[in-house]
Amino acid sequence: MTKNPVVAIVGSGPIGAAYARILLETNPDVRVTMFEAGPQLTDIPGESVRNIADPAEKELARERSQGPQAGDFRESLGIPKAAVVEGIFTARQGTHLLDFGGEGSAHTETFPAAAASTNVGGMGAHWTCATPAPEFSERVDFIENAEWDDLLANAERLLHVQSAAFADSGVGAAIRSLLSEEFSAELPEGFGPSTLPVAGDAQPDGTVRWAGADVVFGPLVEAGNPLAERFELRDLTLVRRVERDGPGADARVTGLTVEDLRTGETSFLAADAVVVAADAFRSPQLLWASGIRPAALGRYLTEHPVVISTVALDPEGMARFATDADLEEELARRALNPADPVGAVNRIPFSEPDHPFSLQVMYAENPPFPLDPAHPHAGNRWGYVNMGYGMRKHPRVEDGITFHDDELDYRGFPNMTVDYALTDVEKTEIAAGEAHLRRAGEALGTFIAEPRLLPNGSSLHYQGTMRAGANDDGTTVADPYSRVWGIDNLYVGGNGLIPTATTMNPTLMSVAIAVRGARKLAEELA
Ligand code: FAD
Repeated sequence: MTKNPVVAIVGSGPIGAAYARILLETNPDVRVTMFEAGPQLTDIPGESVRNIADPAEKELARERSQGPQAGDFRESLGIPKAAVVEGIFTARQGTHLLDFGGEGSAHTETFPAAAASTNVGGMGAHWTCATPAPEFSERVDFIENAEWDDLLANAERLLHVQSAAFADSGVGAAIRSLLSEEFSAELPEGFGPSTLPVAGDAQPDGTVRWAGADVVFGPLVEAGNPLAERFELRDLTLVRRVERDGPGADARVTGLTVEDLRTGETSFLAADAVVVAADAFRSPQLLWASGIRPAALGRYLTEHPVVISTVALDPEGMARFATDADLEEELARRALNPADPVGAVNRIPFSEPDHPFSLQVMYAENPPFPLDPAHPHAGNRWGYVNMGYGMRKHPRVEDGITFHDDELDYRGFPNMTVDYALTDVEKTEIAAGEAHLRRAGEALGTFIAEPRLLPNGSSLHYQGTMRAGANDDGTTVADPYSRVWGIDNLYVGGNGLIPTATTMNPTLMSVAIAVRGARKLAEELA
């Protein structure tokens, strides 16, 4: 084996970061170079922008992550500002739509809210940090349960997951009690209402420092740490192509062709192995552009159909389980960080057979939209909850990306068209989930925003486009260790590898899969 093997990683989100960390911790000889198309936003690479206290700085960091929709970048592409007009879908802060309305944007009519982030830390600089684990059929069957548990424990360590965040909140406990009265009898033991695990570190003053790729990098970005000497992160560097030594079945990857976006210069970096972790759309797009085109590449796209609503908490119901002092304490904690108030986050996790959904319940003292002061529930002293059910999308080859060699996107890659449809199977589950949401809302109080299904793509949890599986049977892209079938030194990472129909937020599961791949790669390079 090569003396000091070099691994090149594409993408600096939580998954690329997990590969870098495990490789460098496990193999003392390996060196890692990571390429990120977007800019570094924070002094510590990959930090959550939610931790930025100054509102103007936070806003700027979000805008700089918005690729073709960011101010200067947008104008340099010749995309007029007027491309964003009333009626068009808008992206969540820190993200940009794949179909941003300008020339060279993707075609996503059936999946209109599809979005990405382009910055160091990827979407992981903007995420909500919910980190539930996959359960029952959400897990993949080519990994034994005991190994899954170990991989998930490692993913939790890397992401700084707290499983009992805000468990001491009296308001949160009252919400759980009301939900338990309604649902617990019909749910399996251990799968009733509980606190939502989140990635972050509780601070002594009661606030949370939210986790991003920064905590996954950990020692790799700590000045003076020996691991940092073997790690290099190049921001504003676009990977154009994964290079191979031939087109044959046993070809190996030789390195990457990259473009420095500051200078426009293109160069080649030789690597002993490559990891592509550039999200569930742009990873398959890069492989396609590199001539690596397994039949399942870009297909089997899934996400979570999401139904959301807002409920005014019923004072009488809440007072059965919480006191005025609990309420004051909750409000005081939230006031510590008014720009990003946190507390009382609950859920009912996925379970089978009767609850194939994930409920997330976030407490808020005000509704997320202006409420007419004359509304009977305006100024509700006990506050509100924003609730959402995530549902399953069952994988089908018909749902996915078509790449166009004869039409380039704004970055010069084969453009993408996304085709996606909800079938009767999903529609039935969505109706059942919505009925559960109604029951949850009625148990907690009164709806001030009725349940509504968000447009396709809204979940930001895009899965399946580079599925991992046990067999190279045309329905998968990667083997059980995340290696692209037939190219032993090319690994892929991210939510695109998840082959199952899931409802939980996917990052923890994808980091767990990455840990497995990275351990294998470290061993192969040893
Ligand atoms: P990303 O984080 O998307 O990173 C990919 C990186 O690759 C990007 O920075 C991109 O610029 C870079 N890249 C792409 N192409 C190239 C190229 N050719 N060359 C170089 N670089 C390239 N998930 C949860 O589990 N829980 C949540 O609560 C949650 N909430 C979310 C809330 C929001 C607002 C958003 C936006 C996302 C949320 N997510 C959540 C999703 C979560 O952020 C993603 O699952 C996670 O970031 C995926 O990690 P990744 O490393 O695979 O990809």
